[in-house]
Amino acid sequence: MRKPDDVHEHQVLNPATEEVIATVPAATAEDVDAAVAAAGRAQRAWAALAPGDRARQLRRFAATVDAHLEELARLEVREAGHPIGNARWEAGNVRDLLDYAAGGAERLTGAQIPVAGGLNVTFHEPLGVVAVIAPWNFPLPIAAWGAAPALAAGNAVLLKPAETTPLTALRLAELALEAGLPEGLFHVLPGAGPVAGAALVRHPGVAKVVFTGSTAVGKRIMAECAARVKPVTLELGGKSPNIVFADAYLEAAAAAAPGSFLDNTGQDCCARSRILVQRTAYDRFMELLEPAVRAFTAGDPADPATRMGPLISAAHRERVRAYVPESAPAAIRGDAPAGKGFWYPATVLEAAPGDRTATEEIFGPVAVVLPFDDEADAVRLANATDYGLSGSIWTRDVGRALRVSRAVAAGNLSVNSHSSVRYATPFGGFKQSGLGRELGPDALAAFTETKNVFLSTDA
Ligand code: NAD
Repeated sequence: MRKPDDVHEHQVLNPATEEVIATVPAATAEDVDAAVAAAGRAQRAWAALAPGDRARQLRRFAATVDAHLEELARLEVREAGHPIGNARWEAGNVRDLLDYAAGGAERLTGAQIPVAGGLNVTFHEPLGVVAVIAPWNFPLPIAAWGAAPALAAGNAVLLKPAETTPLTALRLAELALEAGLPEGLFHVLPGAGPVAGAALVRHPGVAKVVFTGSTAVGKRIMAECAARVKPVTLELGGKSPNIVFADAYLEAAAAAAPGSFLDNTGQDCCARSRILVQRTAYDRFMELLEPAVRAFTAGDPADPATRMGPLISAAHRERVRAYVPESAPAAIRGDAPAGKGFWYPATVLEAAPGDRTATEEIFGPVAVVLPFDDEADAVRLANATDYGLSGSIWTRDVGRALRVSRAVAAGNLSVNSHSSVRYATPFGGFKQSGLGRELGPDALAAFTETKNVFLSTDA
């Protein structure tokens, strides 16, 4: 078996066809050294610009992304297997984030704090060079969630995309140059996690690490950062509940449920993969859920009618199969194309609370359904997990919606919907789902250090 250090390039496959669509060189530790040095130089000049000039350049970058939206979306379809409608949203999310973050560059205001004997002010200083280590499940948006606010706050960004999905990241870096961003300021280092990723995490010239990926790798990165007292933002896994009370509009809850765990073929850290249904409504809900799951058609991701694409890779499909073989008994099972491509059908299991399928993140199009008796039981079940990323609550009782929202230990909850991600609202996890927040009005602050300066008026 080859050690990660022996890998000099990665083949990129189209997961819907298994065709090799590109071969990308893998960055070495020496490449990381050179990129950090260049990024450091670029960052000093970037931070010295007037905030309005930084904002203007980022808006140009946003406009360039906008002009290439369809191209980026089609690249995401080819390398990640996302349905074209989703991929267009993802490319648009990058543009929107750049625009939103650009607005923050001129609003990164400090405070004037009343003290005796002088003037006390605070500054939000950029950190320097920031490493963004991205996963394969949403290659475009997650790259931008870290990069856009970090750049707006005056930092340089080195982006390490996942081995399987480097192409949109590489294209984004080209577009940044085309838009006029300085060379070295936003640079992409494709390569193996344990090589290029690990070198970035350990590099003394990297001031912060933003990592999105598995909880296991996140813990290792946090330990490496702890040894260097390096700040880290972690966006990790999830096993989020979709809580359906008997008083909910059951038709609406059942119609929305498939999208909440099948979107992106379940490869979504916010997937509502535990459906908790009040016992008195359980049978009716299951009756309504079955046709809704079946209608969530899997097929060619380039076809606008397709709702669900393939899994990302053969290895990932094996991980999903290790939880649930396609032959295992299921309450509901959808159809998936046969032949080439890493296909896996939509699957709903009736499970017991302690089952592995009910406690571990499968990261595929699989949900478990569990009954509950009352509100307290629903909250207890919802919180019976090491994760705490998202969750949904379906009820017509406003008081209950708020009580349960406050009681569920998760960072992103939605009532009578499955919304998790908006660029203008904060996103992140409780418990082992992560550390820190991305997006929202405070996104830039996470890429700064607060400096306090006191000017004496007595001298
Ligand atoms: P992963 O942890 O294997 O890889 C993520 C990234 O880390 C990749 O770029 C990889 O190359 C890199 N990496 C791997 N080992 C490394 C190391 N030792 N040092 C530095 N970098 C390293 O995760 P994945 O399989 O790509 O993504 C799936 C996981 O990500 C799921 O568990 C999912 O829940 C999680 N995820 C979470 C969020 C969130 O926002 N909370 C979003 C997307 C994905």
